[in-house]
Amino acid sequence: MTDNIKISTALKKLGNLWVLSFIFLTTPVLGQPVVSEGFIHLTDHDFNTHEVIPLSGDWGFFWNALLDPEDIAPLENPVFRDFASTWDLDDELSTEGAATYTLTIVLPHSHPPLALDIPDFYSSYRLFINGEEISSNGNPSLDESEYSAYWLPQVKSLVNHDTDTLSLVLHVANFGYSNGGAYLPLGIGKAEQLYRSRTIEYGYSLVLMGALLMAGLFFFGLYFFGRNDQAILYFALFCIVYSYRIVGYSPYPLHYLLPDLPWLLTTKLEYLTLYFAGFFFGTYTLKLYPNETSVLLMNILRGISLLFAAIALILPPSVFSYLVNPYIFIVTGYMVYAFWVYTKAAINKNVGARFAVASTGVVFLVFLNIILVYFGLIQEYLLLSFLGYLFFFGLQSLVLSYRFADSLKTAKEQAEESSQAKSQFLSTMSHEIRTPLNAVIGLSGLLSESELNEKQKEFSQTIKTSGETLLSILNNILDYSKIESEKIELEHKEFDLKKLIQNVIEVNSPSFNDKDIKLSYELGNDVPLQLVGDSTRLQQILLNLVSNAVKFTEKGSVLIKVSSLSKKSNPKLLKFEVSDTGIGIPDDKVNRLFESFSQVDASTTRKYGGTGLGLAISKRLVELMGGTIEVSSKEKEGSTFSFTIQLFEITIKEPPKDTKESDTETQSEGATFEKLSVLVAEDNMINQKVAIRILEQLDIVPDIANNGEEAAEMVSKNKYDLVFMDMEMPVMDGLDATREIRKQKDTLPFNPKIIAMTANALPGYREKCLEAGMDDFITKPVSTDSIRSILATWF
Ligand code: ADP
Repeated sequence: MTDNIKISTALKKLGNLWVLSFIFLTTPVLGQPVVSEGFIHLTDHDFNTHEVIPLSGDWGFFWNALLDPEDIAPLENPVFRDFASTWDLDDELSTEGAATYTLTIVLPHSHPPLALDIPDFYSSYRLFINGEEISSNGNPSLDESEYSAYWLPQVKSLVNHDTDTLSLVLHVANFGYSNGGAYLPLGIGKAEQLYRSRTIEYGYSLVLMGALLMAGLFFFGLYFFGRNDQAILYFALFCIVYSYRIVGYSPYPLHYLLPDLPWLLTTKLEYLTLYFAGFFFGTYTLKLYPNETSVLLMNILRGISLLFAAIALILPPSVFSYLVNPYIFIVTGYMVYAFWVYTKAAINKNVGARFAVASTGVVFLVFLNIILVYFGLIQEYLLLSFLGYLFFFGLQSLVLSYRFADSLKTAKEQAEESSQAKSQFLSTMSHEIRTPLNAVIGLSGLLSESELNEKQKEFSQTIKTSGETLLSILNNILDYSKIESEKIELEHKEFDLKKLIQNVIEVNSPSFNDKDIKLSYELGNDVPLQLVGDSTRLQQILLNLVSNAVKFTEKGSVLIKVSSLSKKSNPKLLKFEVSDTGIGIPDDKVNRLFESFSQVDASTTRKYGGTGLGLAISKRLVELMGGTIEVSSKEKEGSTFSFTIQLFEITIKEPPKDTKESDTETQSEGATFEKLSVLVAEDNMINQKVAIRILEQLDIVPDIANNGEEAAEMVSKNKYDLVFMDMEMPVMDGLDATREIRKQKDTLPFNPKIIAMTANALPGYREKCLEAGMDDFITKPVSTDSIRSILATWF
């Protein structure tokens, strides 16, 4: 196409800038042949070098007549009229009516295959060449009764008209639109070139339409499934509405694809989408940068847009189409305003505002390009307006993506903060509850073992059990919150699997002593005993499963079975099974067991206690250790909980010490620790008493230090096997006392094991204790079981 046709088409694409396009159309390109008095001589024109010649200039013109091509020749003195000028611009004509245009083209003797580029006219036409109809839009007629309109630019091949002279007769009629006649000239050029241009143009339009529609749907989804950000919603609507305009506006690929769409419908949609696009873009800008945008100015734009849309909806095209030019000027003004808003937003460091500025910048660049092309300074490419659109929408999308990502980041930070506050709160709360609970459990335990009558014994036992339940709930909740906030880090230390299992059995011994249950374990021959992994967590899982098994079994047996699933590889995948002959679990409840706070039925808590967290915690721990957990159960027959975890085998095995025993054992007797000399460093009188009484139960008579300094001094003078070290003490706290003791390790009579005894269960606290030189960690409230278990671990 020649430059001036391209400019006017490009301008139309930028937003119906029809007024400007008229100016361009009437400007002939220097040196090009023009139509004069109904003739154009192209005999000297080389169609191989010049692509397209616009057939602009003065055509023969017959107003209010649709003449048969055969009747035209005898007519004399036709009127000549500038072809590409609409009827309403001429006082002697009216917008509505019909006319015949005539043109004779004289072609060179030899030329490549040619074609005509026929634009859409206002608002119907029929074109004859050498008496033969080659193209039409709608049905042009002399009055409204048979008239119908259609807009679709077309390229028509001239290969069937292989003569030197082409006689063009064009009927144009308009009844029902605010313009009549032609606004663009026809073009003649190499068929191959014209078809190619049109295909590319349609290709760009369809690609753009698809991209915009997808972007719109994507942002729509983001709005509904995201944080309901209204800026995103309005941008989504803007994209979707505009995607219609890309195909439902010149060169109208939609009309090409769906030729049966009624003109009235497509015209209304063309205008409605323009006004709605303005409305949505204005609202989007307002929602995006409310502090930088004037609500009044945006409301004016939105009001005008809605008003014009209402007019387009209700009134006929002959009326509503008058409003388009003023609207385009308003929108151009608002584009400049949007640029200013985005610039302010960028200065105020609003999220993504730089992209918004860039996007309006792109629109201005496209405008600039059109102007430069007009002055002949650079060439115009179809690709440019395509890229312009793409960048504009792409950059606006980036604004929103940026904004969305930013809101997610903020939400994440807030969630992290509140989760930190939550775990801080939980730790503090558990610390505060643990201290008095220590006294409740310890003293009620001791009380129930003193000389009491039956009633008193029962009461003190109930206090002890309730205290223990409260403690286990506290521990579970704390554990669960640690797992939820991913605060749990696995340890990798050496341990003896057999000892660990024996310990689990030992700890459970008091619970089943009064039941008729045989608690035993089986270790497969290929199960390595010296392993590396998080023994504390493994023990926690086993303790939970075994204590559940004991809890829900009245009679029969509980068996812990360990087998190896991998023969050679390291880490080893070990399978642990805990089976019981207890009450079992109904089929319909099995699936929900591993969810938090899930118990088989409401009576479970009343009857057996518990929080319904143990299995949820076990499941998460098992998964952390690279395994899975499952259950199979039959009501009234029993359950088997099995899980797998990955553990590293220590390949250089130490010779077995006891040839931390047979492989199949039943419950071992509780060990005694009477030979141990123990120091308890504890400032609180009640807790001192609790510790003394508990240790006495295990045949240990401890010494007492009232603070850390005293403890360090006593250790330097006496031989202690073990020090239970409280953390918060006056004069010198537990950590400093430990450091002091470890500092003097070469001069001490004996280097004792030091075990922290604290009400602080904060994550990372254990590590602090180990760093200071302690050997292990036990949380308050302590009980005979927990002390026995830790002693069994170390002695
Ligand atoms: P808790 O035992 O504290 O209630 P768990 O998460 O450990 O919480 O167990 C959840 C529920 O699963 C129990 O309340 C019980 O209903 C059921 N359950 C667990 N283990 C067994 C078992 N060995 N036999 C029967 N029911 C069990």
